[in-house]
Amino acid sequence: MPDGNGRVDIGFRPMRVAVVGMGYVGVATAVALAWIGHEVRGVEIDTDRLSRLRRAEPPFYEPGLGEMLAATRERLSFTDSLAEALLGADMALVAVGTPSREDGAADLSHLWAAIDGIAAAAAPGLLVVNKSTAPVGTLEQIRMRLPASLAVACNPEFLRQGQALLDALYPERIVVGAADPAVGERLQRLYDPILNRAFAHPPALPEPGLAKRPAFFVLDPRSAELAKYAANAFLAMKISFANEMANLCDELGADVEQVVTVLGSDPRIGSAYLRPGIGYGGSCFPKDVRALRQMAGESGYEFRLLRAVIEVNAQQPQRVVDKLRSALGGLEGRRIAILGLAFKPGTDDLREAPSLDVIRALLESGADVRAHDPWAVDRARPLLPEAVELTTDLDDVLQGADALVLLTEWAQYRDLSATVLSGMRGRVVVDGRNALSPVWFEGFTYAGCGRGPCAGAPAAVGEMV
Ligand code: NAD
Repeated sequence: MPDGNGRVDIGFRPMRVAVVGMGYVGVATAVALAWIGHEVRGVEIDTDRLSRLRRAEPPFYEPGLGEMLAATRERLSFTDSLAEALLGADMALVAVGTPSREDGAADLSHLWAAIDGIAAAAAPGLLVVNKSTAPVGTLEQIRMRLPASLAVACNPEFLRQGQALLDALYPERIVVGAADPAVGERLQRLYDPILNRAFAHPPALPEPGLAKRPAFFVLDPRSAELAKYAANAFLAMKISFANEMANLCDELGADVEQVVTVLGSDPRIGSAYLRPGIGYGGSCFPKDVRALRQMAGESGYEFRLLRAVIEVNAQQPQRVVDKLRSALGGLEGRRIAILGLAFKPGTDDLREAPSLDVIRALLESGADVRAHDPWAVDRARPLLPEAVELTTDLDDVLQGADALVLLTEWAQYRDLSATVLSGMRGRVVVDGRNALSPVWFEGFTYAGCGRGPCAGAPAAVGEMV
């Protein structure tokens, strides 16, 4: 019988699944599949990451991951051997990195290594599923690299770091690209408990608070591959739009927070990702927008909108530095306290974090930089010059600072006490995420993004009708 989503109810049968690549996507997927009842083996070539996972220790910061690794231990094991993981497996899900090449296109070398390894070790009948974000046409190339006795599909991933486990168990949609409808059904069976919300909610995770069951789309492979890029490019475009609006507000004397509140209240637009600030970063948006533009270019089509999205994003970190320079009357010898390094709250990931650009620019201008982050300090150390002092202590970072610059909107920065601030030498606050309320900073020079002369007015206008 077709269900409310147009699906046929085909029921659940536990499967043996190999997940190749234990990064944010691979680990979240492996844990979610084990939680709903599958027998899962995670494959990882990084020995440090592998040994941590074998001890049920999170290899990176992701909320709830430690508890979920412990809770799924009986059905989730880890290995560096593809052959071991594929023994008796129904499916192999590939979730390896697809970073940017120099020219902006996706580097598929990890993907090809994983696919060639599977080709060498798989038994006939295995379904090979690519979850890595990869350009249009990749599944056709995967098909050509694998023996004809194996089935193939792609299943692009939409989870967000910082809530990866929640997103893996409660996705808004599951997208499959498959030329053969029977392959689509195999994936529907894999995800059946998720599609039907037929599993116990893990106590380690917050309640999802969603009413609707996920949509399930089986598309032709090229459309599925493109849909993933389209989603990320659209969200990046919303962020760049909010940033352009903020920059214009700085010129026109309007308050972007009030403007985006009105914009976001329109259900046709929505408030998500309409946040002005220092720009998007992380392991997905920058590389996926570049890859989509490159893909379009290679097909002979110039995607002009994406060029603007990229350009606007690239200028945002410098704007924060300029605001700081003008508030302090110069940066040489000034002590700057950076609050937040991770590309967003909820993760310790620093890949393409705009904070790194801001810090480099400050150092080039002769500033003395100290930085705080609750989770990302260890990962930041090898990425920054020795001269940058890193700490997880808020008093420490603010002590003697001429200015405070907020770059990641961690919740703990929202209520900085007067006592913590009293350690500062100067009275300048640059809010790179509009996360602070200007009214808390009486006696300070406060500069947000596009808050212009409205700084000093209450930040929250959500209740205004
Ligand atoms: P990641 O870089 O965090 O992890 C990839 C892992 O794969 C690493 O641990 C690496 O050591 C391992 N690996 C590489 N080659 C391997 C091989 N041959 N065998 C076994 N392990 C191997 O990557 P990620 O952030 O999880 O992203 C994976 C893919 O998913 C990318 O294509 C990304 O664009 C996409 N994606 C990521 C997110 C996200 O939020 N991170 C969201 C949606 C989609």
